[in-house]
Amino acid sequence: MSIRIRHLAISGALLGVLCVPAHADSGDTDRSTDRGTGRDISRDVLAAEDGWAAYGTGTTGGSSADDAHVFTVTDRAGLVRALDGGSDTPKIIKIAGTVDANTDDDGHHLDCADYATDGYSVKKYLAAYDPRTWGSAKPSGEQEDARQASAAKQAERVTLPVGSNTTIVGLGSSAVLKGANLQVKNANNVIIRNLDLRDAYDCFPVWQPNTGGLGDWKTSYDNIWLTGATHVWVDHVTASDKGHPDDAEPTYFARNYLRHDGLLDITNASDLVTVSWSRFQDHDKAMLIGSSDSATGDRGKLRVTLHHNQFDSVVQRAPRVRFGQVHVYDNRYVVPEGAEYRYSLGVSTESGVYAENNAFHTPGHVEVADLVKSWNGTALHQTGTLFNGRPVDLLAIYNAYNSGSERDLTADVGWTPTLHTKIDSAEVADREVARGAGAGRIP
Ligand code: CA
Repeated sequence: MSIRIRHLAISGALLGVLCVPAHADSGDTDRSTDRGTGRDISRDVLAAEDGWAAYGTGTTGGSSADDAHVFTVTDRAGLVRALDGGSDTPKIIKIAGTVDANTDDDGHHLDCADYATDGYSVKKYLAAYDPRTWGSAKPSGEQEDARQASAAKQAERVTLPVGSNTTIVGLGSSAVLKGANLQVKNANNVIIRNLDLRDAYDCFPVWQPNTGGLGDWKTSYDNIWLTGATHVWVDHVTASDKGHPDDAEPTYFARNYLRHDGLLDITNASDLVTVSWSRFQDHDKAMLIGSSDSATGDRGKLRVTLHHNQFDSVVQRAPRVRFGQVHVYDNRYVVPEGAEYRYSLGVSTESGVYAENNAFHTPGHVEVADLVKSWNGTALHQTGTLFNGRPVDLLAIYNAYNSGSERDLTADVGWTPTLHTKIDSAEVADREVARGAGAGRIP
């Protein structure tokens, strides 16, 4: 008991004026009503049966927080204090307005030049590791050391640890978290809702000469990264590169100088995750579930439900799955005319993707066989798929058009989802998702 009291007293002293306890902030509910979200959602818990995160004890986030651990934050400093270093104390964090992770402790915006140190410059980095002179060895030496030191300075600002028993919600329909890499690392029972997560921009991409044969730029930050995380519910978020599209970045060493990694990556034995009513848009690699064929600790984990989400202008990984039992139902996929596109459903090592009633809208150059890609996958369950309004069988078409470098996929993924709420037809889901998915749209 004495420990608990001491902890609260310290928290209260540290929090100061920026984080206002809920009981002193009676205006919240009224303000959010005005802006379109009709009620206080901050103590909501995941509904019973609503996907894998409902398994066992379910997902309640910070709903049991006492009043001293309900915070309204308006800037990075307030958010960092409320997150409390990723502590497991039940806490509710409400984000009001725009919070920019790239700021100093006084709230001043930091740009890439502010982080650059030890003589790092893109120009010098490119000169040092040009494959024509450097070859295909991993970059090392002065510029790579400087890049790492600079990157560490940015990471210290933008990487924000989310601990167990935490709920983070946006207030109303205008809450934005910009430039942040929310990391739910080895934590349990987390809810993230009603938040626009933008532009997890890496100032210091690293050149990896041996990636994919041609080499590639590797970036560090996902908008949300679940690593060793269990019982996580992500709902009504919008995640995108808004402000800094990668296709506007230059080409260096004949590869796009990427600035963003995943929108929501789920790796390292994370488990029991539900992602619902969210928008993933304007991005290359949206959602990676399982990061490596050799991560055999992921076996039996990575159980994820994705329902009523929209993937709009996403090039690939919506999602790409290894190992996990992943239920993908009632999602809406939009590929606009002229947009870069590779595939939507990535079926990789030991994955069990169970896809039901998803709707795809694509321009003429995208064919049904393009929607699925397999790397060492063996099975895909799919039913009820709509492709530009017409029913298709993804599996039959994938197998019929499979070039032969990959084996055919069977329909038996070895499991049948039981944890789900009502499954709509693809037609109904398509309409509902277009209207209701994303931040600021909780009914
Ligand atoms: Ca990632």
